[in-house]
Amino acid sequence: MEPKIPYKIYLEESEIPQAWYNVRADMKNKPAPLLNPGTLQPMTIDELKGVFCEELCRQELDNDTAYFPIPEEILNFYKMYRPAPLVRAYFLEKALGTPAKIYYKFEGNNTSGSHKLNSAIAQAYYAKKQGLKGVTTETGAGQWGTALSMACSYFGLDCQVFMVKCSYEQKPFRREVMRTYGANVTPSPSTKTEVGKKILAEYPDTTGSLGCAISEAVEAAVTQPGYRYVLGSVLNQVLLHQSIIGLEAKAALDKYGIKPDIIIGCAGGGSNLGGLISPFMGEKLRGEADYRIIAVEPASCPSFTRGKYAYDFCDTGEICPLAKMYTLGSQFMPSASHAGGLRYHGMSSILSQLYYDGLMEARSVEQTAVFEAAELFARVEGTLPAPESSHAIRAAIDEALKCKETGEEKTILFGLTGTGYFDLKAYEQFNDKTMTDVIPTDEQIAASLAKLPKVE
Ligand SMILES: *Cc1c(COP(=O)(O)O)cnc(C)c1O
Repeated sequence: MEPKIPYKIYLEESEIPQAWYNVRADMKNKPAPLLNPGTLQPMTIDELKGVFCEELCRQELDNDTAYFPIPEEILNFYKMYRPAPLVRAYFLEKALGTPAKIYYKFEGNNTSGSHKLNSAIAQAYYAKKQGLKGVTTETGAGQWGTALSMACSYFGLDCQVFMVKCSYEQKPFRREVMRTYGANVTPSPSTKTEVGKKILAEYPDTTGSLGCAISEAVEAAVTQPGYRYVLGSVLNQVLLHQSIIGLEAKAALDKYGIKPDIIIGCAGGGSNLGGLISPFMGEKLRGEADYRIIAVEPASCPSFTRGKYAYDFCDTGEICPLAKMYTLGSQFMPSASHAGGLRYHGMSSILSQLYYDGLMEARSVEQTAVFEAAELFARVEGTLPAPESSHAIRAAIDEALKCKETGEEKTILFGLTGTGYFDLKAYEQFNDKTMTDVIPTDEQIAASLAKLPKVE
């Protein structure tokens, strides 16, 4: 007899993983290095450390060390909101009438409301340790800026946030949370930076994009002494910190001898998905186990499913290093979709390489279908999910419904990355039935891809 699985599987505080896992150590084909946009040579620590904190540069470039011990100050902070629960979605299974067993790892149990705090606290810690005055960053939907402002206030660092303009206007409440934690928030593009002025001159009506806010934040970091830039997704170091999600999930599943068949996560820049799948992918890469892994992205910003695997700029202003990734082109401006946190033109280099090597799948889903899944989930499981997270819910439901047809009792694990309390404008449109699905045309994507930098 299978042991009865509790509704929530909690780890003891003493069972919180003590080291992050670096999946690159087990990848045969390493992710392609960041390139200096001028010389097209791999970026060195010396080049990176003018922009990023030094210890984070080391983590960024380290493709070989499998485990990084988590410093005690970070573990202490983690204890405020971790371990995060792993929940068996009994009520969702029942509502779907599926034989599938569905689990989700819930990362929304902190004031910032998402998994981003896992990396924010790490990045703020290394900035403080280096003796910096403050950090600059961009935020899309606002979750990263909120997480970073919490982390900076904990360590007494100044926090300057460039917030994608459409989110700044749609989500005034997030802005106020950031300000309450002491952050300085500017809508992007802004006239505070040269690159912001340039983008505004070219696209005066733009509602902004993550790529554009990144350019502004990087410029702000390199032009102020004692400041460095921090990024909430995409980078290798961020996936490393987010491995805490997967390590905890795996430890909780292992307690009951549960092995997932399918692992699903939403993919913006790839940090939550990369973190969730890390230890499972490690087993897969070492030939110890096999899992189906599915990245879910919005049809409005489909980097994996319609983008190209190529070197591209990480930002619209083309001042950041080049990363090899699935990209829609750094000049791609997604429609003002509500899944703000998924509006990035590119994708983590680690996940891009894994996808290219056939080790994971990707699919895109349309916004209204995502909110239908969100609504069902909220009604039966009680938690109001973030629109980003609801992409993963959509795919988990679709897989569970396939099991209903075939009668297979698959075990599905998905990442519930956050709560939707600040996304009520989007829920309002869904409830009013005014929500639309804006999907870029092939011509739009081709036009943006035509502007990729020429590297080979
Ligand atoms: C930022 C965010 C995402 C997407 O970012 P990734 O780096 O792809 O994980 C997903 N869900 C929530 C709630 C977010 O805040």
